[in-house]
Amino acid sequence: MRAAAILLAAGRGERLGHALPKAFVPLAGRSLLARSAEALRSSPGVEAVQPVLPAGAGLPEDARGLGLLPPVAGGARRQDSVLAGLRALPEGFEWVAVHDAARPRVRPEAVAQVLEAARRHGAALLAVPVADTLKRVHEGRVVETAPREGLWAAQTPQAFRTELLREALEKALAEGRSGTDCASLVEALGAPVWVVEGDPDNRKITGPEDLAEAERELASVEAAPAGAKR
Ligand code: C5P
Repeated sequence: MRAAAILLAAGRGERLGHALPKAFVPLAGRSLLARSAEALRSSPGVEAVQPVLPAGAGLPEDARGLGLLPPVAGGARRQDSVLAGLRALPEGFEWVAVHDAARPRVRPEAVAQVLEAARRHGAALLAVPVADTLKRVHEGRVVETAPREGLWAAQTPQAFRTELLREALEKALAEGRSGTDCASLVEALGAPVWVVEGDPDNRKITGPEDLAEAERELASVEAAPAGAKR
């Protein structure tokens, strides 16, 4: 019942407008990658963390002492990077959690919860109920309002029986299909995927405003009295 994590950090993160790849950008003095890696490392049950980096990159300085597996180069799409991580992972891990380095505020307990749900059901993800009304927009004009009922926003980690994720990724590759998360590729096999309610703080850093907001939130957590910190 051994579990590993794949830490995805191979995206360029162009929307952040930073010279460094997104996962190497500091948030309150520590790289997104080091923050995410530490949350995975301190989650009960995660025995190894496989980082996936841009081709030619090494781990950022602040992630070097965290006991991560030797990094591997990612691919063009997110799912290619997941497959590269999976292929590099040593044998013997029956369970795997895939996490975006761009979500540096994940809590170790949430990682453990999603792995536990995967152990029970085969596949699980963290997600939060959608609070806003969602519009499909084409060239500035609303073409559809999606009923909000039952809509959840997917986060990471997403956890799977390793062989189920491998099958989903290999099949998508063979059939030329893309998915913006791993769960959608597993869903395409017809396998059930369960949801564990996540934490709104586990947001993905995409643009500069996300980084600024996370900096503000961290500053207020760090200024809170001991015991009130998360
Ligand atoms: O691009 P997006 O924000 O969806 O990326 C989510 C996560 O996937 C990021 O941590 C990013 O580094 C990673 N990624 C990757 N390889 C890619 C694209 C994205 O590892 N080709």
